Amino acid sequence: MVPPARPRKLAKVPFVELADGRLQGVVSSGSDIERVYVSSVAAGTYAFGCSTNNNRPCGGARGSFCNHIRALVTEAVLQYGTERVARYLKADLPDGERTAQTVLTAMAATRPAPDSAKAAASVFSRFLRHLAYLELAPVTTPSPEMQWFPPSRAVA
Ligand SMILES: [Zn+2]
Repeated sequence: MVPPARPRKLAKVPFVELADGRLQGVVSSGSDIERVYVSSVAAGTYAFGCSTNNNRPCGGARGSFCNHIRALVTEAVLQYGTERVARYLKADLPDGERTAQTVLTAMAATRPAPDSAKAAASVFSRFLRHLAYLELAPVTTPSPEMQWFPPSRAVA
């Protein structure tokens, strides 16, 4: 686990990761608290996808990045830092100040196409698996599910 480059609020984008050759994550709907969107941008091609958790395509992501994808990139930059996100996505950034907007503009300038990979289901199930860790009862005995978290201090 890498600590976030800057603290971020989880309500808008509860899950973001650089994995499977994509920036991908889960974005809350702005209007309906019951609904979330699974959004992704592929490294290199910037092929983008956005659909609801029950696989309905996002109306805003037909021709270009929708607001969910913009929010995903913004939160990824808070989580990982601009340089790391840009490097992972292979985004060519101009010199000067680099922000989430710089990354979005650089990718949009290449006129990326919608992603046909349909990654939503696997991204969403990874998110649910993350949530399951929050529901483990706090105990002082070893919990096998938590073993991949690094210990907070070295054992003497
Ligand atoms: Zn969307």
